[in-house]
Amino acid sequence: MQETQEFVRDVRNFIGGQWEERNGQETEAVYDPATGQVIAETPLSTREDLDRAVKAASAAFEGWSATPVVQRIQVLFRYKMLLEEHFEELRDLVTLENGKDAKDAGGEVRRGIEVVEFACGMPTLMMGETVRDVARGVDNVSYRYPLGVVAAITPFNFPCMIPLWTLPIAIGAGNAYILKPSERTPLTSQRLGELLVEAGLPDGVFNIVNGARETVEAILEHPGIEAVSFVGSQPVAEIVYKGASAHGKRVQALAGAKNSMIVMPDAVLDQAVPNIISSTYGNAGERCLAGSVLVAVGPKEAQDRVVEKVKEAASSMKIGPGYEEGSELTPVIRASHRDRVKEYVDLGEEEGAEVVLDGREPPREEGFFFGPTILDGVKGEMRVAREEIFGPVLSVVRVDSLDEAIEFTNESPFGNACSIYTENGAAVRHWRERVEAGMLGVNIGVAAPMAFFPFNGIKNSFYGDLHATGKDGVRFFTENKVEITRWLSEPGVPQPTVEQPIESGG
Ligand code: NAD
Repeated sequence: MQETQEFVRDVRNFIGGQWEERNGQETEAVYDPATGQVIAETPLSTREDLDRAVKAASAAFEGWSATPVVQRIQVLFRYKMLLEEHFEELRDLVTLENGKDAKDAGGEVRRGIEVVEFACGMPTLMMGETVRDVARGVDNVSYRYPLGVVAAITPFNFPCMIPLWTLPIAIGAGNAYILKPSERTPLTSQRLGELLVEAGLPDGVFNIVNGARETVEAILEHPGIEAVSFVGSQPVAEIVYKGASAHGKRVQALAGAKNSMIVMPDAVLDQAVPNIISSTYGNAGERCLAGSVLVAVGPKEAQDRVVEKVKEAASSMKIGPGYEEGSELTPVIRASHRDRVKEYVDLGEEEGAEVVLDGREPPREEGFFFGPTILDGVKGEMRVAREEIFGPVLSVVRVDSLDEAIEFTNESPFGNACSIYTENGAAVRHWRERVEAGMLGVNIGVAAPMAFFPFNGIKNSFYGDLHATGKDGVRFFTENKVEITRWLSEPGVPQPTVEQPIESGG
């Protein structure tokens, strides 16, 4: 590793097509989580910075929304090609600032590109609806329009994929877009912006305003922003949902999670266990789809079998930086976050759980590493069963039946995802019909929907009506006009009479 200073990168705001010099804003350090070294400084933008971005976006909206959709998507096609060309570079940037390994980082870049591909279908996705002859000679149609200036606020854990959940859909639909990336991982967003410029997006259609809490508050209150898409922790999602709606904005706020993985006695453990390990410890457990509770369904021998195998696999994971070949458990995002994860493990122990695998002693001297951890004998009333830890910690809950497993899961305030491991189709159906979670995995520990489906958390894992991606994503960034038409002078068309719905409808 070279001297820190040589690695410090310039993080800039991008407003109205200009990468701006820092103008006296405070900054927050960005770290390489594998070494703990400072690699960049994020400017914490002010209300004035945000206001300039809204003005630039608003000015650009006029021309961009009037650009035919078939031309708008040419930018997205070029963008897709550029993202492919720069795939490894983006992947390595994600690893550098987030810490995850190359496989996970590459996976998220791929998932992001898939949303760009989806948005290239915008001429079809934006189609309205028609019913001809709703009364004699009367047609009813609907058209979809972009909203105006929209904003996205994103978390640290997917610095490439999550901006791309909304960016291509919002601009493909004709909106002007402001991104407020996580202050902890701003570098990938910056590169995504540079590539958009190369793809030929007109100035002002895409803007980056870096910052943290105050910048978010400015977004929630700015009268020039029509819609806010947020992804992050549950307490902040609630603040954003309430704050933005109180200011008349459309909001989608994707929040935290506590996902159960239910393991039935007939599960094919040779394949289930690696899958459980990857769900729990992949990305250091910093995924909203991470399986963080293993619900082992009885009898006791079956429960012991799965817990023992998971423990064996977890304890042999190779701990190391994401950019080192073969690393399986990578660092968490910050030293303060590592401390928080440790506090949860201490708490679990105090609550009566048994620490059967203990990662509290930092496994490496430098960086923000936390070892693989398993808490056995966790009960529903414990905080470690209910609260999001967001680290490489697995809580094990033992139950006698599938119904008990479903009951435990449904008592969670969250409803992001749930997985079941079994070969029994009837059990799967029974579970699917009763479990309260919005993304379900059958023998799959990370139940991530493809770009053409919604990212579908429920309960306290989501605030709003329309989810990100898929048709929901398109609806979120558009609104309808419904038109009803008759032509009076055309010969041969019977004229509507007063009894017909066109005249009597409300
Ligand atoms: P976070 O809530 O700390 O930050 C998210 C964004 O909100 C950041 O841009 C941050 O600058 C801003 N922010 C932070 N505190 C704020 C405050 N008090 N007021 C206003 N804005 C504030 O989340 P994070 O730690 O970056 O991300 C991890 C969380 O995100 C986890 O809870 C995870 O489950 C969740 N997440 C959810 C999904 C999903 O789809 N449901 C996906 C990814 C991550």
